[in-house]
Amino acid sequence: MNKHKHHAHIDYKKRLLIFIQTDISDEDLRLLCKKVIDFQKNFIPTEDMRDFELMYSHLLGEPSEIRTPEYVIAPYFRIDKNTETYELNKRSILLTHELLTDEDPPLCACFAFSKSFLNSNPNIEKKILEDFSFINNYIIWISNSNTKVESVKNLNRIKNIVRILSNEGRNKVINLYGDYFSLLLSKVGLTGVNSGFGTSTKKIAKLSRGGGGGTTIRIYSPHIYNSLHKEEFKRLIDIYSESICDCDKCIEIKNGLKPNSHNFLDNYFELLNSNNNYEEHFILCRKKEKEFVEQNNLDFLISDLDSKGEKYEKHPNASHLQNWKDDL
Ligand SMILES: [Zn+2]
Repeated sequence: MNKHKHHAHIDYKKRLLIFIQTDISDEDLRLLCKKVIDFQKNFIPTEDMRDFELMYSHLLGEPSEIRTPEYVIAPYFRIDKNTETYELNKRSILLTHELLTDEDPPLCACFAFSKSFLNSNPNIEKKILEDFSFINNYIIWISNSNTKVESVKNLNRIKNIVRILSNEGRNKVINLYGDYFSLLLSKVGLTGVNSGFGTSTKKIAKLSRGGGGGTTIRIYSPHIYNSLHKEEFKRLIDIYSESICDCDKCIEIKNGLKPNSHNFLDNYFELLNSNNNYEEHFILCRKKEKEFVEQNNLDFLISDLDSKGEKYEKHPNASHLQNWKDDL
C-alpha cells in the first residue's frame, strides 16, 4: 500500500505533509488544490518570521511591510521511479491552473525529483515544457542531492534541467538547494536559490549546539565553498594559513583574539559559534559569493574553480571544485 502513497509539501516554516493515493479522484484533487491556493493567498507572515528578518536587516535590508505572495505553487508530490507520480503532479498543476483567476498571483510549478527518476527519464525537462506551455515559473528540488559529492554526470543533469526549463530566459527557475554551485547555475538560466535562512537556519548553519558532549560544529569555508568539521577546518588552515574567513564578522572576531596563541583556532570557533555570529558569517559569505558571480562571466568563474581546485587538491573536502568546473 505504502508505495502508492506520496506526500505533498506546503512549506513555510511548518511543513504540512499530506499522504494521498496517486489514483485520487479529480474531485478530491481539485479540493486539495483549492485549499492550497487559499492557504497561500491568505498566508500572513508570523511575528517570528518578522523578528528574524529584523534581526538580520543590517545585512539583508529592511523587510517590506506588506506581503502578498509572488506566486501560487500548485500542490506537488515527490516524483520517484514510476511515472505515475509525474502524472499526479501534472493533474495537480492543470487543476490549479484551472482554479486560478487573472487577479491571482501567477502559477508556479514545483518538481521534487528523486535522482532515480531523473536517471531513468533523461528528457523530462523537455516534456515539462511541452506539458506546461502556460507556465513561466518553476521550482526544482532534487531529493538527496548534494552537489559536493555528485558525479559530473549528475551535475550535468542538474545543469541541463535548469538550462532547458529556463527556455532561454523566458521562464524563471528557482532551485531549492542554494549552494555556490547553484549560484553558478545563474549563468545558464537559474533565477533564484534558497539558502534556507528564516526557514531552516540551524540546519543550514550546520551547527549543533546541543549539550552532552556530542557537539558537532561545522563551519562554512568560503575558500572551498563547503562546510567543514572543526578538525577538517583546522587542517585547511594548517596547510593554507590564509584560508580563514575574512568576512566582516570574522575580522571582528579575529581582532579580539591574540593572533599567534596556540589555541587561536579553538577560540575563533568558539566565538563564531556564539550569539548569531555564525549566521552572520554565513550570510556575509553568501552575499559576497552572489556578488562575485554577478560581476564575473562564466569563463572567469570556471577558471576560479580551476585554480581553487588545484590549490586545495590535497584537502579531502574540496574535490567538488574540480567536478563543478568539469560540469560547467
Ligand atoms: Zn566569516
